[in-house]
Amino acid sequence: MSKIRWVKVPEGYRCPFCPDHVDEDFLVWETLLAEPICDGCTYDIFNALLVIPPVDLLDPEKIPRLEQLTGKPALELSRLVVQEDIALLEDKENLERKIRNSREFPGETREKIEMEWHERLAQMRSLLAELEKLATEKK
Ligand SMILES: [Zn+2]
Repeated sequence: MSKIRWVKVPEGYRCPFCPDHVDEDFLVWETLLAEPICDGCTYDIFNALLVIPPVDLLDPEKIPRLEQLTGKPALELSRLVVQEDIALLEDKENLERKIRNSREFPGETREKIEMEWHERLAQMRSLLAELEKLATEKK
């Protein structure tokens, strides 16, 4: 996730995905939505969009709500998010930063981090291929 920024929200602001309670931390995920959403929902939505078809099993209303708010179909939103993640993973600077930040954790070697990074990139590329195939089939 690259295009996110933390924001301050007015007092009493509620996340559009979990308006039943107060949240502390909000961010704007520019690729998806102009409205601030809470950090917990951001994480859930990210993971839900990596499933085909996109679904959050704990809260199946989340993705339909996202479609409603963005006016875009879930599969298109998935494609946007996967493309964004691939761009982040292809940027060598990000990998180097991850390696630098992981140095203090025991068991984290450069080789291990690089391997996991490339596995993740391969996973995301095959997910994107699958999403693009679905998009062509629909036309
Ligand atoms: Zn929320």
